[in-house]
Amino acid sequence: METKRNVLIVTDGAESTRNMAERIAAAAGDHQVVSLSAADLTGTELLPAEVYFFGCAEPHPASFAYLAEVLRHINLVGRACGLFAPQSQGALHYLSDMVHDSEITLNPSPLSADTLEPRQWVQDVISLLRHNGGDTMEQDFNLDACIRKVPDFPKKGILFYDITGILTKPQAFAYCIEQMVELYQDKQIDAVAAIEARGFVFAAPFALRLGIPLILIRKKGKLPGKTLSRTYQLEYAEATIEIHTEDVPVGKRVLLLDDLIATGGTLKAAWELITACGGVVPEIFGVIGLPFLDYEKVLGDIPVRTLISYHAE
Ligand code: AMP
Repeated sequence: METKRNVLIVTDGAESTRNMAERIAAAAGDHQVVSLSAADLTGTELLPAEVYFFGCAEPHPASFAYLAEVLRHINLVGRACGLFAPQSQGALHYLSDMVHDSEITLNPSPLSADTLEPRQWVQDVISLLRHNGGDTMEQDFNLDACIRKVPDFPKKGILFYDITGILTKPQAFAYCIEQMVELYQDKQIDAVAAIEARGFVFAAPFALRLGIPLILIRKKGKLPGKTLSRTYQLEYAEATIEIHTEDVPVGKRVLLLDDLIATGGTLKAAWELITACGGVVPEIFGVIGLPFLDYEKVLGDIPVRTLISYHAE
C-alpha cells in the first residue's frame, strides 16, 4: 500500500499568511502540500488530509466564522493541527468543539509570528510536519468513493449509504479498522458494544485488535440469555433492540459502535441499555455520520466520532 502524506494548509487568506504557507510548501519538498484559503475551499472535493490551520493568532470572531466555514467543506479524516499563537487557546477550543472526526492539537511549542523571525517560523513548521509524519496512516484514501448512495432505499425518500462497497475492498476495510484503532487505542476502552448487523462487521476486528470484549446488541428475540430491551424510532421504521445484561461490565468504559449514525435513535436506545446494565459509555462511534439529521440533538453530550460525515444528501 502506498503511503503518501497529503498535507493541507488552510490560511486566513491574509497576504502575509499566504506568503508564509507558500514558503513552507516550497521547502517541504517530500510532502504533498496544498495551501488554500477558505474561499478557495468552498465547494471543493478534497482528499482526507492532515490539516494545518494558519493565521488564527488573533482570536477574532471573523476568524472563527471563517474557520467554521472551512471545516464544513473539509472531510476531516486525517489529523488537524492548529498552529496558533499562545494567546489563541480560545480559537483552539472552539475548533475542537466543532470537529469530532479529528484530533486538533496545539503545537507543543506554540508559534507566534510576532515573536519569531519568519524564517524560524517556517523551519519550525517544516520540522513539525516531519515530526508528525512518523505515525501517519494512509492519508490519501477516498472512503467516500467506496460508499454507494442508493436513492429511495429501502423506501421512497431515503438515501441509503451502502457500506458493502467498503467490505468488498480489503484496502477500504483495513483503512477503517486502522483508523478506529488509532482513534481508540489510547482511550482506555474496556469493551465495545455493536449494533446488529453492520455494526458487528466493524466491531469484531476492532475488538480483536484492541483485545477487548465484544458485546452484541441484537434485534428482539435473537439473544438466548437474560436480556434488557428498548423500542425506538428509526429513520425509516420502529425497532426493538436487546442486550444480554450479564455481558455488560459494571462500571467499565464501553464504546458504542454502529456502521452509520442517522437520527441517533438506535444508539440512544443502545446507550440506555448499556447504562441500565451499569456500563459507562464514554463515546459513540459510527463509520458514517449524517449530522444533517441532527443526531447530536438526540445523543446530547455523548461525544460522537465518525470516519466520514455527509452534511447534506
Ligand atoms: P438511526 O437510529 O436513525 O441513527 O439509524 C441508524 C441505523 O439505521 C444504523 O444501524 C444504520 O445501519 C441504519 N440506517 C439508518 N439510515 C440509514 C441510511 N440512510 N443509510 C444506511 N443505513 C441507515
